[in-house]
Amino acid sequence: MDNRKSLGISKLLHRLARFIVGVAITAVICFISINLAPGDPVKSAIDLDIYPVPFELGLSASYIRDEGMYYAHCVYPDTELPNIDSTIEAIVKDFEAAAYDEYLSSRQEGHTGKASFAMQCKTYSIANGFGVVLIDGTYTDSISESPKDYFRSLHVDLNNDRIIALPELYDLTREKSLLEIIERQALNYYPHIEISLNRRDFDSIAILTDGLSLAIERGKYLPASEGPISITVPYQVIGDLIIASPLTVEKRDYSYIDPNKKVIALTFDDGPSDHTLRLVDVLRRHNAKGSFFVLGSQIKNYHETLRKVDEAGYQVLGHSWSHRNLTQLSKDEIRQDSLLTSMAIYRATGRVPRYIRPPYGSYNDTVREACHDIGISLVNWNVDTEDWKSRNVDSIVAEVARSARDGCIVLFHDIYPTTVEAIEIIVPELVRQGYQLLTVDELLHHKHGEVVPGKLYFN
Ligand code: ZN
Repeated sequence: MDNRKSLGISKLLHRLARFIVGVAITAVICFISINLAPGDPVKSAIDLDIYPVPFELGLSASYIRDEGMYYAHCVYPDTELPNIDSTIEAIVKDFEAAAYDEYLSSRQEGHTGKASFAMQCKTYSIANGFGVVLIDGTYTDSISESPKDYFRSLHVDLNNDRIIALPELYDLTREKSLLEIIERQALNYYPHIEISLNRRDFDSIAILTDGLSLAIERGKYLPASEGPISITVPYQVIGDLIIASPLTVEKRDYSYIDPNKKVIALTFDDGPSDHTLRLVDVLRRHNAKGSFFVLGSQIKNYHETLRKVDEAGYQVLGHSWSHRNLTQLSKDEIRQDSLLTSMAIYRATGRVPRYIRPPYGSYNDTVREACHDIGISLVNWNVDTEDWKSRNVDSIVAEVARSARDGCIVLFHDIYPTTVEAIEIIVPELVRQGYQLLTVDELLHHKHGEVVPGKLYFN
C-alpha cells in the first residue's frame, strides 16, 4: 500500500481510468448461474431464517503492482482483526504472485502486450459475527485465449478473529456424498460435461443466500468463452451435510414471550453516556429489557458500558456515527457511516447490529436501499416522550401514561438525568399494567415474524 501513497494525483487518475476499464471488461464476462431444482426436502441443520446478507466486514484495503506492462489492482476487506486480515492478505498476495508468474512466462513466450490482474472481494454476514469472504481475481493478457480466474471462499468468525475450519461447516465423514450431490445435480444440468470434485474444491464453495455455491473457473469444464460458472445447490438438497454450527448461534428462541401479554419496547438514543448503566440497573431490577441506539463516535469512551449492556441481554444498535441527517448523504456515505458504527459496536459487544435508527427518524428511498444493501432494518418509534425537550420527569411520565399501547416503541434519550428519574417511575408502572418490556428485536419478531432488511418499523 506504500507504493499507492507515493503516487501523484495525475498518475492516480490515469491508473483509476485504467482500473475502471479493467472492471468494465471483467463485468461484461458474465457469470452463469445454474440454479438446481431441489430434490426431496431434507431437514437442514442450518437455520434458514438467518440467511447470509451482503455486509461489508470492514473498511477496504488495496494492493497495487504497476510495472508498466503489467498492472495489478487488488481490493480486499480490512477488518482490523489480525488473523483474519493476514489470512485474506496472504491469499490476495498469493493470487497476485501467481498472476504475475503468468505474465512473466507470457513474456518468455514472446508476448509483448500489456497484462493485468484485477481482484475484488464480496463479503456476506451470515449471523452475528460470522461472515463469508469471496475472493475473485482475473488475470488478462493479450495472447492467452481467455482470462484466468482465481477464486477463494473463506468463512470467518469475527467474534474470535479466526477462519472457520471445514469440519465446523460440513459433515466431512460424508464428504464424498456432499461432493457427489453437487456433481450429480450439475451433471443433470449439463449432461455433456463431467464435473469431478475433491476436497480442494471446498476452497471455492461458500454458504450463501440461496444455498451452497461453488465457483468454477472459466475453461475448466465448459469452453472459456462461457465465462466462470457458479453452481448453487439449495439447502434442502444438501440437508444435514451442512453442520455449520457457528451459523446457528443467532438462532433465537422467542418462545419465552407470552403471547397473551401486552408488549412494549423502550428505546434510548444518542448515548452511550454516563447515565446508560443507571438505566440498565433500573430495567434489570424490574426484569425489563431495553434497546440502546448509540452514536458510533461516542463508543470509544464507553466500551465497558456497552459490554455490560450487551451482557445484561439488552440491545446495542446503531444511530449513525455522528448524528448527521442520513437523507442528506449519498448511498455510499450512508453505507460507510452505518458500517463504521456497526464495526464500533461490534468491537465493544462482539455483535454486529441488525437495526439502525436514523437520526431525527428521517429516511428516504436512498437510506432504505443503503440499509437493505448492508442487511439492516430501520426502527423508528410511535411514542415520543420528548424527554430531550421537556427535561421534566412529570411530563415524560405523563406522555408514556397517555400513549403506551400494546406493541409500542417508545423513544427516550439516555443522556439526561431526568430521563433516568422518569424511567424509575415508568418501568414499574408498565410492569404493573401487565406489559412485557422487550428489546426491539424481540418486539419486532413477536409482531412481524421475519424482520426484513431495508424495511422501516415503528411498532
Ligand atoms: Zn438522536
